Amino acid sequence: MNKTLTAKASHYLNTLCNETGNRSVGSPGNIKATEFFEEIVSQSGWSIEKDRLDVMDWLPGSVILTVNGNSFTAQASPYSKGCSVEAELVPVSDIDELEAADIESKALLLYGDIAKEQLMPKNFVFYNPGSHQRIVALLEKKNPAVIICATGRNSALAGGASPFPMIEDGDFNIPSVYMTDIEGEQLLKFRGKTVKLQSTAERVDSQAYNLTASKGDAALKRIIISAHIDAKKGTPGAIDNATGVIILLLLSELLSDYTGDNRIELTPFNGEDYYGVTGQMDFIRKNDGKFSDILLNINIDGAAYFEGDTAFSFYEIPGPFREIVLDEIKKHTAVSEGPQWPQGDHSIFIQYGVPAIALSSTWFTENMEIQDITHTEKDRPEIVDISKTVQAAEIISEIVKRLSSIKQ
Ligand SMILES: [Zn+2]
Repeated sequence: MNKTLTAKASHYLNTLCNETGNRSVGSPGNIKATEFFEEIVSQSGWSIEKDRLDVMDWLPGSVILTVNGNSFTAQASPYSKGCSVEAELVPVSDIDELEAADIESKALLLYGDIAKEQLMPKNFVFYNPGSHQRIVALLEKKNPAVIICATGRNSALAGGASPFPMIEDGDFNIPSVYMTDIEGEQLLKFRGKTVKLQSTAERVDSQAYNLTASKGDAALKRIIISAHIDAKKGTPGAIDNATGVIILLLLSELLSDYTGDNRIELTPFNGEDYYGVTGQMDFIRKNDGKFSDILLNINIDGAAYFEGDTAFSFYEIPGPFREIVLDEIKKHTAVSEGPQWPQGDHSIFIQYGVPAIALSSTWFTENMEIQDITHTEKDRPEIVDISKTVQAAEIISEIVKRLSSIKQ
């Protein structure tokens, strides 16, 4: 194991998780993280493109919720507006009930069936089920004064947080808060009573940056190695996805002398865990009509968990590429081919017909439904095996070098 690289990786992990502060899009920590990325890759001679994004940052404030002198614990939904409301409590547990209910200017409690899943943000284009769109449209049409969501856990869709925010959408303008399903059951007893709800949450206009570090002529076929640099609010985001960014930073050094047949781009997407997916949308806009120039995407998300293997999964990968990757994997212990998973930026490339490889930790892909780490404060540097970031960077570096000799 390369000791210098391991020491650097540890330093990067500490910087991204302990020093910058939370890296949610548009936050001060997010801006520091992209500046840090720029500083490190510049040292190895990469050209940097820096796109400014107008985004929304958000301050959670606090929530006071009372009915008949009883207090309830709730928190503002991320990116929700604040509010000061006194209104009748109307509980609704499924979509038919929502269709029938009179909720204009009321305090709407969503519980049970309708609150089982986090609603996809209104303008999220990659995956947006009809049932979610219908709920959002009904809410906007019927216009309650505030929405109270009572939720449990849904790790597959909302990460490990419990309760999870049912609404997380800066484009949705009805104020909302969320609480545990247990708290919701207590609140349900006050159907028809007056709820007093005050939330000091605040939307803040801000900026963020989407970077591309590149090496090689623009006319060449491109290999895009990506890892999202943003994190959810409230998490140090060590596995999700500081380790991915660390692997990009190590690659900037390992590939500093690369002069192969392809153009290499290191892309720290800014927005994978953000309702507006702003960095990814910026990338798609810029690459309109140019996706056919992309030979391969390697996306890293959730890598270097201390337990289990590093997993490479394949999406529409041509045979010769696959053989190279499998051959490199074979040279290492604790690295294997893993199952496909859709919740990552590699999906964007697949949708545009670009072959992709995703790199993650087997433990996470196997425990997606039950783990309580993703998007919580438990996603800390202590659960990272830093040597796995170095190993992953070395493998990717070898793959990229060997792809140069393959004729397309
Ligand atoms: Zn992630």
